[in-house]
Amino acid sequence: MDVATARMRLESMLHELDRSIGVLRAGTDRHGGSSADAGAGLTDADRARAMLDAAGRQRTAVLAALRRLDDGGYGRCVDCGSAVPDGRLEARPEAARCVQCQSRAERRR
Ligand SMILES: [Zn+2]
Repeated sequence: MDVATARMRLESMLHELDRSIGVLRAGTDRHGGSSADAGAGLTDADRARAMLDAAGRQRTAVLAALRRLDDGGYGRCVDCGSAVPDGRLEARPEAARCVQCQSRAERRR
């Protein structure tokens, strides 16, 4: 994937994430901190918080990818330095690692 396409996709992802983070944040604020009235299971506010978490993590990954585009490291695994396959970048333009290093990083978590 060429750099211009990657940047375009990352920027639109960032835009989209900012939008959903705004919506989710408004949702969690409205519900306040109390989930006592909802009985067992996840409340809407809990769900919104979990989604907000995930969106925030993805936003960080997208920003890091944009930074790698700026300093020329984009498309290279941040762990082992080998090229991240194009197919993987097509599916996840924010991917920072090759498949092997990514699964290793996830096991570490
Ligand atoms: Zn790697």
